[in-house]
Amino acid sequence: MLLSGSKYGLARCCLYWARADVPDLPRVENPDAKAGTNRHHALEALVNDTDGTASALWLASLWGCTVEEWPAIEANIREWLPTGAPEVALYYHPATDTARSSDARDRAYQCEAGEVPMTVDLLRHRDGAPIEVWDYKTGRQDNLELAASNAQLAICCLAAARMTGATAARGVLAVVADDGTARLDEVELDSLDLDAIAYEVRGLVERTPTSEPAPGPWCSDKWCPARAVCPATRAAMVATPMEPMSIVVDSADACARIHTQIGLAEEFLETVKRARNEWLQSNPAGCELADGSVLQWTIEERDSIELTDAAAALIPPEAIERKTSKTAIERAIKATAAKGEAAAKMREVLAALDAAGAIKTTQFGRPRARKAGRRAA
Ligand code: SF4
Repeated sequence: MLLSGSKYGLARCCLYWARADVPDLPRVENPDAKAGTNRHHALEALVNDTDGTASALWLASLWGCTVEEWPAIEANIREWLPTGAPEVALYYHPATDTARSSDARDRAYQCEAGEVPMTVDLLRHRDGAPIEVWDYKTGRQDNLELAASNAQLAICCLAAARMTGATAARGVLAVVADDGTARLDEVELDSLDLDAIAYEVRGLVERTPTSEPAPGPWCSDKWCPARAVCPATRAAMVATPMEPMSIVVDSADACARIHTQIGLAEEFLETVKRARNEWLQSNPAGCELADGSVLQWTIEERDSIELTDAAAALIPPEAIERKTSKTAIERAIKATAAKGEAAAKMREVLAALDAAGAIKTTQFGRPRARKAGRRAA
């Protein structure tokens, strides 16, 4: 697998996954990642949209909101989004401590031997100021490192500085909320800081070919791409051998072991399902199963009914479900409330709904791991 800017934080913890002999498994973008990618595209489009002519419908669909919600979100984004060069592909060469950029979108294809590819969400040059590297973070950020210790930001700053000849760089993390507002976290790196990062990158790249698995919380927290094939996770599966499905969970040890096994088995199954599906998609004839049936990739259609006034008139009233969610209400309030008033408005609406008996609470149980010492909410 290839060491890249986005995986540099993982490389600081474990290098095994980046070895050339560790297979690069097919990856399918999960819906959350896809939504994040679309929001990055929306931000890129806004940076490019200097004359304000980009389609609101298109931008709203990228953001995942309605076209009515979009103007308020766009106004929030424009309050912090700077001008600059969006989506810049950089390639850092640790052996020569140099970097280059490329217009190409296919980063893996363009990468030359020994280079570390990365994408900078926004690169900003200002006279007399350090070169600026912006990284947008959208969606949940449970394990986000602060700018001062953020590995991806560090290597992107290094590459940007080496490419432009700058002696200092400023890295900015923009943690972007659903309503388009952003919390900015910055770090400024001088020439000594940049030299230290270059030294670290070169050392990690040199150690990669002989590195061994170093398991830890980063295996899952930092989305290691090799979890399904890594000997460390396989060893964990062997150390906690699968029991028949009829197993009785009769102790804390057995429960903890089964919980670990379930996580590993689900992850493994997701990986092999993706591999099976990719094979079937590229082999339309499919394969024969033991019972003589043929397994093929098929496209199925599912209808949904948009509840326009005309459609509602055709449907028996008892078939129409009338319900919404707190998330949908919150989104609508954020789009329409004056700045700073959304939270109070939301509380007011929820209190009124509660008083009207419109909020139904159901309880459900699920296993949930908490860090030791942290009490249940
Ligand atoms: S699963 Fe963990 S130990 Fe294995 S390569 Fe990934 S980070 Fe390293």
